[in-house]
Amino acid sequence: MEEFDVLIAGGGVAGPVAAKFCAAGGLRTLLVEKDRIPREKPCSGIQFPYLEKIIGAPIPRDRLCNNALSKVEILAPDGRVTRCAFPMLNYMRDRFDEWLCLEAESKGAEIRDGCAFEDFSGEDGAYTARLRSGDSVASVKARYIIDATGMRPVIRRKSGGTTGFQKGNSGATLNYYFKAEGKLRPDTLYQVWNIDFNNRMFAWVYNKTLGDGRDYWVAGTGYDKNIQQRQDGFFEFVKRRFELSDVEIVKREAFSSTMSLLADERIWLGEGGLLAAGDAAGLVDLTRGVGMDAAALSGRLAAKAVLRSSSRGTAAVREYAGLMRDLVGQTNRNRAAGIIGFDSNERLQEHLDRSMLRTSLRLAARTLANGLRGPERQIMLP
Ligand SMILES: Cc1cc2nc3c(=O)[nH]c(=O)nc-3n(C[C@H](O)[C@H](O)[C@H](O)COP(=O)(O)OP(=O)(O)OC[C@H]3O[C@@H](n4cnc5c(N)ncnc54)[C@H](O)[C@@H]3O)c2cc1C
Repeated sequence: MEEFDVLIAGGGVAGPVAAKFCAAGGLRTLLVEKDRIPREKPCSGIQFPYLEKIIGAPIPRDRLCNNALSKVEILAPDGRVTRCAFPMLNYMRDRFDEWLCLEAESKGAEIRDGCAFEDFSGEDGAYTARLRSGDSVASVKARYIIDATGMRPVIRRKSGGTTGFQKGNSGATLNYYFKAEGKLRPDTLYQVWNIDFNNRMFAWVYNKTLGDGRDYWVAGTGYDKNIQQRQDGFFEFVKRRFELSDVEIVKREAFSSTMSLLADERIWLGEGGLLAAGDAAGLVDLTRGVGMDAAALSGRLAAKAVLRSSSRGTAAVREYAGLMRDLVGQTNRNRAAGIIGFDSNERLQEHLDRSMLRTSLRLAARTLANGLRGPERQIMLP
């Protein structure tokens, strides 16, 4: 049977970043991804420059969309518009995640795509995992396992039970990619705050480059129920607001999860030598509207925890919990203050009026602080 120091499941963001740092630290590292790489992943693909610091490498230009996003335009429920400069990274997840896997491979990690993590047995220091590639099933041994399988985490579900999950979907998102003429600007991320369109955060419109190398617009939203109706209403709003003509939808993308985003137990870091990172750990943050930075940071810190545990003989999960204290604290505070819970646009408007200035000041302070902080101590924005 093949033996590895660490087995990582999931080739999204958390998995490849963990694999890169495990391999760079000298551990025999295997990452398995159930789909063929590059694989599509429903995601807005927007991040902030400090992500490169966490990953430990600049993202190559050809992995980014043609149009950089440098401005945010916020449309409040009362119709007021706020614009601000805000540099962002803009990419599609198929090309970006593939590059992350290549980064991990360049440090010595082995990447197997089309290979699903099915099950495991054993305990801290001696796990046996069952992997499936098509019809062929193989077992491998690993001292540590990192679950980076996203919002429907296979390993966490087995080990941590159903805590943090609910029966049925906890919510869904829909994206329409489309061609159109009109008044949208390609350097701008438009955020539409209105609970008729999105009762989780904002609905969005901006520019993306698809696999054919051409630029399209994408409009999308999320809701805890009746997502199709919300998305269609929002799309009609976008057409009117930006005076769009010759509109043609070229691609639709949907995503849903059973993770209970409001539950106290949403965050689960693992047990023994089994760690959860990224969405699998419950780190997606609806208040910030993003999750890839937390996924990358947790992947990097999971690798550090495994390396420490391996050299000190301590429990990996204890090392990890210590390293993750700030990120978990921030995610939990944001969950408690999240937009879910606003039952009318009036209450949402009051919240925006109260928080807009505070958020801008915090953003400026955190951006400055991140410039001075090391990669493992980045504070998540906004
Ligand atoms: C519509 C939408 C828009 C979003 N927009 C943004 C955004 O603009 N910016 C941002 O930062 N975040 C955004 N997010 C959140 C972001 O997508 C996640 O936080 C991020 O992808 C988490 O990364 P991850 O590595 O934890 O999981 P994932 O990226 O979900 O990767 C998990 C991987 O595990 C693989 N996998 C699953 N099961 C198995 C198995 N059994 N064996 C092997 N492999 C397996 C999957 O195929 C997948 O490749 C968005 C999410 C959604 C749904």
